[in-house]
Amino acid sequence: MWTNRFWQAEFWTLAFIIFVVGLIGSLFDRAAASIAVIIFGYLLWNLIQLSRLYKWLVKSKSLYPPSAPGLWGDIFNHLYVLQRKNRKELKKLKGIISEFRASTSALKEGALIISNQGEIRWFNKASEKLLGLKASTDIGQRLFNLLRHPSFIEYEQVRDYEKPLTIPSPADEKLMLNIHITPYNNDQRLVMIRDVTEKHHLERVRQDFVANVSHELRTPLTVIHGYLEMLDPEVYPELSKVEKPLQMMRQQALNMGHLVDDLLLLSRLDAKDPAHNGNKKDIDINIMLDSICAEARVLSGEKNQTILFHSYSNKTFCGSEKQLRSAFSNLVFNAVRYTQKGGKIDIYWKETDENLVMSVCDNGPGIEEEHIPRLTERFYRVDTGRNRSQGGTGLGLAIVKHVLEMHGGYLNIQSTVGKGSEFSCYLPKS
Ligand code: ADP
Repeated sequence: MWTNRFWQAEFWTLAFIIFVVGLIGSLFDRAAASIAVIIFGYLLWNLIQLSRLYKWLVKSKSLYPPSAPGLWGDIFNHLYVLQRKNRKELKKLKGIISEFRASTSALKEGALIISNQGEIRWFNKASEKLLGLKASTDIGQRLFNLLRHPSFIEYEQVRDYEKPLTIPSPADEKLMLNIHITPYNNDQRLVMIRDVTEKHHLERVRQDFVANVSHELRTPLTVIHGYLEMLDPEVYPELSKVEKPLQMMRQQALNMGHLVDDLLLLSRLDAKDPAHNGNKKDIDINIMLDSICAEARVLSGEKNQTILFHSYSNKTFCGSEKQLRSAFSNLVFNAVRYTQKGGKIDIYWKETDENLVMSVCDNGPGIEEEHIPRLTERFYRVDTGRNRSQGGTGLGLAIVKHVLEMHGGYLNIQSTVGKGSEFSCYLPKS
């Protein structure tokens, strides 16, 4: 404090005046009264400076403070410097905000800021078009009152924002919107909205194409397969020369039939076709796995594998019976197909704290680690030649993954070459 020259000057001036006035006062025997008068005068002067400062800070719009001598002058000067710095900062911030506004207005994507409770705090121009919002009426409204699509309400309740959500726009049913929510600052969320109508349309065209082609192939395939079955060398002995080619044609027609069926199933799953998905109901998985095991033993036939079902849970699961049966049987039949003669296949139904788990373990050839992440891709096969001869379509695990995702679950694959594989379906308990 004492390093400031204004402070020192103020102190020594006051001390000098008190000393001189005290000395003169003592000549008239009035030293104390003279000092009191001086101190009172000093106090009054300071109060006047304080009131000028107050008026300037509170009422005056001028950038320049009042002028004063000594320490007060120095204080006013410092305040002036601070004020100038603040105005500069303010100008800079205003510039940043208007730049931000200009850039978000130019964005094609909608951007909204909502509170933790879902109240809209701010949105850009594109949101007005995509969601039909109006700044004058919708700021402060809850977004979930304006966007009442059931999937969006569920998305908000679950609050799992890992994946974006695609729903139609409330402003125009033809617009498909991709919504991505990112929480920040504990109590705010940034909602980004993209128009994906074109992508959605192309996806529909692709799905429809696959579904239509598969459907159209079904009838000729059934006819070809039917005639091939009729061309039996036992009935027509002259055909015994071409028995082998006929046998191969029958096998290929059968494989193609499976491929068409799997493609149709996948396109129905893609389209979330309610007719195929059927109503969800409580399924006794123990009964389902028992019957799949019986079918697997028939399929195993001459391979003579040991196929055992171990149940450690009586829990039922609410889902689509048709879809789950096709997923579980895909895994069990794969184990039968890829495990060697006399091999062992164990099927489990058990529960953990959070999940119901269906696992298929075999002591077959196993799968190399590098292939495991790609197994659920459509048409991905580890060893094309060998596996095609097993009659697979390359779509089985893609179907399993899809079905599990539609039931809120996931597939886990563990495998060691030479020891065997374990395919586990995790389904949520609730
Ligand atoms: P596919 O119709 O060819 O069986 P999938 O999608 O069902 O197609 O399986 C993909 C690939 O995963 C198979 O081609 C096979 O190489 C491998 N695979 C699946 N299950 C097993 C298993 N139990 N043991 C070894 N390999 C397996």
